[in-house]
Amino acid sequence: MRNIVLAVATTILAAAMPAQAQTALVGGTLIDGTGGDAVEDAVIVVENGRIACAGPRSTCSIPAGAAVQDVSGRFITPGLIDAHVHFSQTGWLDGRPDGLNNPDVYPYAATVQALREDPDRWHRSYLCSGVTGVFDVGGAPWTVTGAHRETEGRADRAHVRAAGPLITWLDSLNALFAPGPLADQPTFLPMESEEQVRADIARLAAMGSDAVKVWFIAPPSPDDGVRLDALMMVAGEAAREAGLPLIVHATELEAAKTALRAGANMLVHSVADDVVDEEFIALLLANDATYAPTLVVGRNWVRAIVSAATGEVVNVRDDNRCVDEALMGLIADPGVATAAVLAGTNGRVTPLANAFELIGREGVIMAQNLRAVRDAGGRIVLATDAGNPLTLHGPSVYDEMEAMQAAGMSPGEIIRAATANGAIAMGMADTVGILREGMTADLLVLAEDPRANIAAFRSLTHVMREGELHTQQELQQR
Ligand SMILES: [Zn+2]
Repeated sequence: MRNIVLAVATTILAAAMPAQAQTALVGGTLIDGTGGDAVEDAVIVVENGRIACAGPRSTCSIPAGAAVQDVSGRFITPGLIDAHVHFSQTGWLDGRPDGLNNPDVYPYAATVQALREDPDRWHRSYLCSGVTGVFDVGGAPWTVTGAHRETEGRADRAHVRAAGPLITWLDSLNALFAPGPLADQPTFLPMESEEQVRADIARLAAMGSDAVKVWFIAPPSPDDGVRLDALMMVAGEAAREAGLPLIVHATELEAAKTALRAGANMLVHSVADDVVDEEFIALLLANDATYAPTLVVGRNWVRAIVSAATGEVVNVRDDNRCVDEALMGLIADPGVATAAVLAGTNGRVTPLANAFELIGREGVIMAQNLRAVRDAGGRIVLATDAGNPLTLHGPSVYDEMEAMQAAGMSPGEIIRAATANGAIAMGMADTVGILREGMTADLLVLAEDPRANIAAFRSLTHVMREGELHTQQELQQR
């Protein structure tokens, strides 16, 4: 019933507005992304893709001749920013040959080719979900140089920032991610020596990367740990010299501290092995660094592996029909991979049982650490790790925001994380993330009040990008 009512209402609103005209959204409740009080009965005037005025009626007069859209009873927020995605991953096991390597089941080279040939696949899913900006924090060089990054001035695409190949000691994984014909597209760059690390960063700068990403995973031995800590410091120094932000995958407390000492500007995941201490908080704040919790991705990985191992179809929420038919088809047919998964685990189910136990333990620690960073005033962003199995480009933002709420963040804190803070993480705070004069007109219209429950983002009726208003129905893919 609700859908029918919404459909009628949105058809009236839909009367597609030319992007160049002045448009006024009138009567809604404005939540501008700053974390300040909402404005009831607001007026938002949009002109040439920019916000000309946003505030109470007494401040923002409706220009004569503007196309007026009545949004009374609705809620206006900035577009969502997902500060951790991967354009080179699909949302299922076909995009992760390190998780399930069986070309007969999921031919990886073909998967990559399809991703490169359809740069709008994820853009469609993002806009449909209300996501108007994403930070791709690691992938093959084409994730930096490819057509999907042509986004500015494009009302049909989300803003993109991209880090490109990951610097790591485990660059041998290129054998899986960049085999044969993909050899010129290494996902990983070596972290064996100071010279290599400096050369990696020069290469990233030359290809146009927006950040230096270090995949700072647990070292193979303690001796290697000492060496890699030193190389982390080199990476920080070289990133600063290149003028690029340093972003780091470091999920263990000591590794995260090392990354921050090296100058990390963003930790792309929670610290998950232990509760954060005062030293960690002090380092995070001293760097003015961003903390990306990524609460749902680990659990989704385990669900995906179990689904493939058992052939049981998992329930994924995409109420707004943003994910394409082909991907939903793969998720709905996990049994094709069962034999391959069981072969990979040698028929043992212990690894899976252990994975569930670990995910549960880490979940408690991650929630506690998120509250600690929040309480200390650290900058938190919305970050899904979309592209990993069952963490879907687009709709996973709702799952992640609801997990942040369950972990103890207030809706207001989550909205700020998902908008203004995301813009800071992307280096775009001057143009997006807040609804005020001069900013790009990227905004959402919601039917329900997100201040009461962050799940209200699932009720979005409209997405405006660069001043062009789309109904949610127009953006659906199924
Ligand atoms: Zn990631």
